[in-house]
Amino acid sequence: MSGPLLKVENLTKHYPLGAGIFKKGIPVIRAVEDVSFSVEAGETLCIVGESGCGKSTVARLLMRLVEPTGGRVLIDGTDIASLKKDALRAWRRRMQMVFQDPYSSLNPRLTAGQIITEPVENFERLSRKQRQALAADLLRQVGMAPEMMNRLPSELSGGQRQRLGIARALSLKPSLIIADEAVSALDVSVQAQILNLLLDLQQQMGIAFVFISHDLGVVEHIAHRVAVMYLGRIVELAPSEALFAKPVHPYTEALIAAAPVPDPTRVRLEASVEGEVPSPINPPTGCAFHPRCPLAIERCCIEVPPLVPMADGRVVACHVRAPATGMPIQPAVKGDHTLDPVAMSESHSAQASRVPR
Ligand code: ADP
Ligand code: MG
Repeated sequence: MSGPLLKVENLTKHYPLGAGIFKKGIPVIRAVEDVSFSVEAGETLCIVGESGCGKSTVARLLMRLVEPTGGRVLIDGTDIASLKKDALRAWRRRMQMVFQDPYSSLNPRLTAGQIITEPVENFERLSRKQRQALAADLLRQVGMAPEMMNRLPSELSGGQRQRLGIARALSLKPSLIIADEAVSALDVSVQAQILNLLLDLQQQMGIAFVFISHDLGVVEHIAHRVAVMYLGRIVELAPSEALFAKPVHPYTEALIAAAPVPDPTRVRLEASVEGEVPSPINPPTGCAFHPRCPLAIERCCIEVPPLVPMADGRVVACHVRAPATGMPIQPAVKGDHTLDPVAMSESHSAQASRVPR
């Protein structure tokens, strides 16, 4: 039995504010706080949350572009912080990143063919013929004509440039691709094409994805599991279907309610996230979501809620909906009769009935 491809344990990243070094008493930006998750081979884990909640910092920590303040990242059980030279080089081939803005991440002076074969040429020398064959093959894999290899990025559309970014990531045959807002800059119809391309590639090659987006509507189609982040922390991590059918954390619920997905079968929740995202320099005490939460009780202002496992395989950090002691309170969703009768005890049903509909 083998473990997960990627395992993240208590990952934390604090940036010093202003000064370049940490000094006692200097405030820090709590970009990522105690984040843990795992990704199986061939799986798509989506990370969602509003701008500034720490998604890109998680991506940078996974790619080892920044060093963590605490916690660790394991690939096939190996801590990436322990990798030296050759092992680090070998590991870098297995994990590739696709960025939001393909234009700024593609060298404008190189042709499409040069751009997508460059990662391979960093590892091995290719003849002109080999390079052309590789470029043609990679372009075909992302649904582009081989003739496009002679074009410059400026001669391509936004969707084509993002396909190039994906082709380049594919060139080293990675086991894991981290896509940070990879479709966010694209039109809705082009977004759908790129998402379908990622799905096809995953089916053909068994690539795992960590797919980061601020838009829950986008992740619904490709996620196997979804991690919802708020102010540096995961507040809910659930199988995709369960999350969309029945969000448990009030923040997840509000995000889903706000996502413009025309789905007549979905129960429409009226919750919406009011107010601004608080500052990660001085986050609210207790549950960071409590100032915006319609369900907040006194305990939420004091104690950080732990991630509590629920019966359907999800974890939720919420004192009201997923209390660490006692029975979890299921959200009241119309037409759902699967509630645990024990959980429907007097004291809990009073709270459950406060769920907005
Ligand atoms: P997201 O990708 O979810 O929008 P980020 O991970 O980019 O969020 O940022 C999380 C928080 O960390 C933000 O408050 C951001 O301003 C801060 N931050 C990110 N990178 C740095 C950095 N290099 N130095 C200081 N603060 C940073
Ligand atoms: Mg970001």
